[in-house]
Amino acid sequence: MAKEWAKPFYNSKAWRACRDSYRDERIGIDGGLCEVCRSEIGSIVHHIVELTPENINDPQIALCFDNLRLDCKDCHDWEEGHFYDAHGVKRTRCAFDESGQPVERPAP
Ligand SMILES: [Zn+2]
Repeated sequence: MAKEWAKPFYNSKAWRACRDSYRDERIGIDGGLCEVCRSEIGSIVHHIVELTPENINDPQIALCFDNLRLDCKDCHDWEEGHFYDAHGVKRTRCAFDESGQPVERPAP
């Protein structure tokens, strides 16, 4: 879910038009594949530089194709900061093996 302060942005005509035209451009390039795994069709337009209350009104960040990437849901959920479990607890790439040592969580 979008953060409360970001909702007016995500509901704005400017963002919707930007997102749709970015997706259309990607469809023209490679059929709209996820730019991360390139095996699934992308469904989410992701901001590479994460939006903050400070930059959300900066069109060079919020509405610029250079800062956008088309992700499939799995890849998007894998992004740092977007990966929350059903209880809203942030999950990280770090997991623990049987002996309690931190290990890299395998990508989905
Ligand atoms: Zn993907």
